[in-house]
Amino acid sequence: MNAAGTTIAIIGAGFCGTALAVQLLRRPPVLPLKIVLVNRSGLMARGVAYGTRMENHVLNVPAARMGVLPGEDEGFLEFARRHDPRIGGGSFVSRRLYGDYLETLLTEAAVNAPAGCQFRAVVGDVERLVPDGHGGELWLANGDRLRADQVVLALGHYAPADPAVPEPQRGFYCSPRYVRDPWRPDALWGVKSEQPVLLIGSGLTMLDIVLDLRARGHVAPIHALSRRGLLPLAHRELELPPVYDAELPRRMMERPNARHYLRALREAVADAARQGGDWRDVIGALRGPTPALWHALSGHERRRFMRHLRPYWEVHRHRCAPQLGQRFEAERASGSLHLVAGRICGFDERPDRVIVELRRRGAAATERLDVGAVINCSGPEADTRRSREPLLAALRGDGLAVPDELGLGLRIDPDSYALIDGQGIASPWLRYVGPFLRARDWEATAVPELRQHVTRLADSLRATLSQPAGERLRYLI
Ligand SMILES: Cc1cc2nc3c(=O)[nH]c(=O)nc-3n(C[C@H](O)[C@H](O)[C@H](O)COP(=O)(O)OP(=O)(O)OC[C@H]3O[C@@H](n4cnc5c(N)ncnc54)[C@H](O)[C@@H]3O)c2cc1C
Repeated sequence: MNAAGTTIAIIGAGFCGTALAVQLLRRPPVLPLKIVLVNRSGLMARGVAYGTRMENHVLNVPAARMGVLPGEDEGFLEFARRHDPRIGGGSFVSRRLYGDYLETLLTEAAVNAPAGCQFRAVVGDVERLVPDGHGGELWLANGDRLRADQVVLALGHYAPADPAVPEPQRGFYCSPRYVRDPWRPDALWGVKSEQPVLLIGSGLTMLDIVLDLRARGHVAPIHALSRRGLLPLAHRELELPPVYDAELPRRMMERPNARHYLRALREAVADAARQGGDWRDVIGALRGPTPALWHALSGHERRRFMRHLRPYWEVHRHRCAPQLGQRFEAERASGSLHLVAGRICGFDERPDRVIVELRRRGAAATERLDVGAVINCSGPEADTRRSREPLLAALRGDGLAVPDELGLGLRIDPDSYALIDGQGIASPWLRYVGPFLRARDWEATAVPELRQHVTRLADSLRATLSQPAGERLRYLI
């Protein structure tokens, strides 16, 4: 802290960075305070998920569950109804509208901030953080430097990783026929509408890209390939919050291993079906207890879960809006969307197309698929050990951030959200919030989970900054 007060820098203005800034602006931890929100693009308060302009890119969580602030669970629903009174609590509305909501919250919070609390939005790409004894300095790609007493990383998702293929074939990943980042605004500009296209991955990102391609007039067939060929399952129409079944998590916890979890879950689904219930309610009832179920598993059991059960969990847990489910069934039924279970073996690029060599699941022989472009929809790169993002690579190299042993995220102190460094010490100035918390809790991707983390982090910042500087704790792990 200097004479001008305390500075908190938040790197990343997607959902988490924006929600944290709003909470701190509404209830500053200390005064005078400067909150600096730094984002790589000028699109503040949106991030990857809510930066889309496509109206049919819809939320995969009903409107009534997408409120940002504690005590204002229906905040988004109220906002959405002002836009369209027909929207109900169970509606799945556009992600663009959700971005409008985040932007409005941020603007209002900045305008109404108490005297002594300043807000500044900075467009810039942070490439490195350098500790200075009382906080740290942000080094931006354009050469600018910013000093802060507390720094929060809210970096969100990174582009998907390239599929593993033999070394000589990796050259294809530099081709204009390959789209590594499906969320770039210009991702589909080079895709010819009359040529078939291969989408790697068959999850929610694949659904987005199919909608985007069709909206651009893509008439040729679309192939979607993933190891098991599983499509996300759909929510029910007007889904209501599930009735919480406290029994199931308790039964699962009796024997914390992946096989028993699966057995207990299957039994609960069969019970629910006998009583006229729905499997979605059983999965929904696990939402709150998921972190506790994950914590109870040993490292070995977590690996088994990831190897054998993860894809099945993902399609049941991360469902798509009902209208998308119907749309995709129709695409498949008409033969314009082909789902392939298998894996890529290589690429042979020609001047006018690319021939993809793939092996179907269970098949001995490979086969060839002619397409005009290959788009990587395999989901955000989750492995922080191999991410090439400059800031993450620098944090790893400087020993300020340490990936967890499963490569799901970063090592983070559970109470303060402080990054744990290479020596096992929780940083007194550097914190993290976002999807890399899945290393700790398994589910830390969607708004209902992330907003709780943001609230706890805001409380922790308040607790830290209300102490005299000399007494701020260094936590030894
Ligand atoms: C396509 C998609 C759709 C989704 N839909 C839903 C949904 O419907 N409902 C739901 O609950 N969840 C959804 N999610 C889950 C999503 O993870 C969360 O809702 C939320 O957006 C994550 O917020 P975040 O702040 O962690 O990341 P993001 O919102 O991605 O924000 C991170 C921001 O940090 C910036 N940034 C990164 N590195 C730097 C750097 N070095 N310097 C400066 N800026 C940087 C990025 O540019 C970005 O703006 C979706 C996710 C995706 C990818």
